[in-house]
Amino acid sequence: MIKRKKTKAVKVGNVTIGSASPIVVQSMTKVSTQDVGKCVKQVNQLAQAGCKLVRIAVPTKADTAAFAKIVQKVKIPLIADIHFSAQRAIEAIEAGAAKIRLNPGNIKNRKDIFRIIDAAKMHDTAIRIGVNEASIRDLKQDNVSADKRVGLMLKELKQYVTLFESRDFENIVLSAKSSNTARTIEVNRLISNTFQYPIHLGLTHAGLCEDAQIPSAVCLGSLLSEGIGDTVRISIAGNPVVEVGVARSILLSLGLVERQEPEIIVCPTCGRTQIDVVKLAKKVKKAVSECQKPLRIAVMGCFVNGPGEAADADLAICGGKGKAYIYKKGKKTAVVPEAVIIETVLQLIDKF
Ligand code: SF4
Repeated sequence: MIKRKKTKAVKVGNVTIGSASPIVVQSMTKVSTQDVGKCVKQVNQLAQAGCKLVRIAVPTKADTAAFAKIVQKVKIPLIADIHFSAQRAIEAIEAGAAKIRLNPGNIKNRKDIFRIIDAAKMHDTAIRIGVNEASIRDLKQDNVSADKRVGLMLKELKQYVTLFESRDFENIVLSAKSSNTARTIEVNRLISNTFQYPIHLGLTHAGLCEDAQIPSAVCLGSLLSEGIGDTVRISIAGNPVVEVGVARSILLSLGLVERQEPEIIVCPTCGRTQIDVVKLAKKVKKAVSECQKPLRIAVMGCFVNGPGEAADADLAICGGKGKAYIYKKGKKTAVVPEAVIIETVLQLIDKF
C-alpha cells in the first residue's frame, strides 16, 4: 500500500491538488489556442478521458483573449502556460485561469513576479512554479554533471519559492522536469524532502507514444510508489488523449486510482499453450470494452498451470484443445467449446 507524502492542499478551481486528494491527471491542448472551437473540443475530449485539469499555451495577447472565451465554454478548470511574459500571465489570470504555470528560467524580474503574484491573489489563482532543466542558463553546456544539474534545478526552485513566500503567497504547486529519467526522479525526491507544497510530476519531451510510455512509467512510477507526486502529466508527442490513458494506466497499476472497468490479465504463453491466447484475449478485451465492473479477468493458455496462476481472478478462461475451462473465483464452473467462450464469459460477467 503506497503512503502518499503529506503536502499542503492547493485549490485549482473545483479541483484540489495535494494533501489527501486523489492524484490529479492533467494534460495540454495541442491545437492553436486562437481556434476556440477546436480548443474547446480538445478540452472536452480530455475531460471525457479522465483529465481533471487542462493546460493551454497563451504565447500572445490574441491567445489570452481566446483563452478567456475557452474558459467560459468548458466545465473543467484551465491552466495557462506562460513563458517569458508577465503581461500574458496577468491577462490569463484576469481571463479566468484557475492556475498558471510560470517558468523561473524565463521570468526573472522581481517586480514582474510580484505583479503576477498580486494578480493571482486577487483572483484566487494557483501558480505552478515549473523548473525545466533545459531552460536553466547554467545547464546549457553538456559538461555539467548530473548532480550539479539536479542541484541547480532545486536551487532555482528554492529562489523562486522564497520570493513567493516573501510576498505571502503559498498557493503554489512545484515541478522540476527533465527529459532524463534518473535526474527527474532525483530532483523530485529532493523537492519532496525540501518543501511541503504539492508536486506536479512529468518527464518532459518524452517522445513519440511508443518511446515515451516506458520512461514515463518508470519515472513517474518510481516517484509515485514512494508517495511523491500530487498531479501528473505525461508528455507524449501526438494526441493528448493518449497522455491521459497512459497516466491512468500508471496510476491504476500502482493502485492509486480505483479501477472502474475490467482488468484483463493474459499469460505470456509457452510450450504448454493449448489455444490462441492473443486472439482470445483481444476478443475478450473487445467484448468487455463497455463493461463498468472492476473485474479481474484472466486469459490463460492451458488448464495445467492456468487455473492456479489465475486463482485471484474473478473469471479465468483456461485454454484446452478446441475448448476452454472457465473458472469463477478459482472454482471451475464450465467447460465450453471455443466458439462460445465469449458468450459464456459475458453471461458470467452479468451475474457479478
Ligand atoms: S498458463 Fe499455461 S500456457 Fe500460459 S504460460 Fe503458464 S503454463 Fe504456459
